[in-house]
Amino acid sequence: MKTIHTVKELQVIIKQHKKEKKTIGFVPTMGALHSGHISLMKRSIKENDFTVCSIFVNPTQFNVKSDLDKYPRTLDADSEKLAKAKVDYLFAPSVKEVYPSGTKKSVKVNLKGLDKLMEGEFRPGHFEGVVQVVHRLLDIVRPTRLYMGQKDFQQFTIIAQMIKNLRMKVQLVVVEIQRAKDGLALSSRNVRLTKAKRKWAPIIFKELKKIKRSMKSKTVDEAIESALDALGKPRGYEPEYVSIVDGYTLKPIKKWSDSDYIVAATAVWAGKIRLIDNIILKKS
Ligand code: AMP
Repeated sequence: MKTIHTVKELQVIIKQHKKEKKTIGFVPTMGALHSGHISLMKRSIKENDFTVCSIFVNPTQFNVKSDLDKYPRTLDADSEKLAKAKVDYLFAPSVKEVYPSGTKKSVKVNLKGLDKLMEGEFRPGHFEGVVQVVHRLLDIVRPTRLYMGQKDFQQFTIIAQMIKNLRMKVQLVVVEIQRAKDGLALSSRNVRLTKAKRKWAPIIFKELKKIKRSMKSKTVDEAIESALDALGKPRGYEPEYVSIVDGYTLKPIKKWSDSDYIVAATAVWAGKIRLIDNIILKKS
């Protein structure tokens, strides 16, 4: 695997591969890689002639500065994992490389309100930052396919809207959520959970699965209430939201029959760590 730090060097390589009509798979990440990320790499390697993984902790998508400062940075360990997975190129640029003329957000995309619901309500400016960085990285890498995880359901929905809105020539591939044995969705933030908080963390996926099982016996509101109640029970746990939404518009549904594509998503504070997860309840 070759590690590249500058846009210039990466673009020379990409240009050469494009000349040879090779397909390019691209996996953007913020590092602190775990097997969830590696599943995206493996899928990309399988489906493309070569794969580029970026590691860039994007300052513009953090609405709380301390969260940015505390974000784990483990480039050496990440690099080893990527080489083992047989990724071709690791792109690890500086903030200056990604934003040479400053970090001011300038991409104009009609997100149709997708960025204002769920996560958007609690993380103002977050998705603007995500759109800005993915747009910039796509402009640098110009991949055939872009790989993102279902774990960040709202994120890939917004990026799909950006691609559509700007008529970008890239195919978005969404990869299913990888979980620990006890059901906790893998996340770079999990290592920061205290032992006691980690012990209770499987409750998040358990409650999402419970919502799925209760679609026949409970109303949508009852299912949300019951999950909120359960997720607030472990010591130091506090659910920020449990939303049951249409998977395309992310708008809350009122009845199970309101949509053919329904997703339940949640964000839960486990002490100082914010965990997110989701489950597809129905897709036809
Ligand atoms: P991040 O570095 O957290 O921004 O994540 C980079 C990519 O990996 C995003 O597209 C995430 O949705 C995806 N990802 C994160 N966690 C998981 C997981 N547990 N399973 C599958 N994909 C994941």
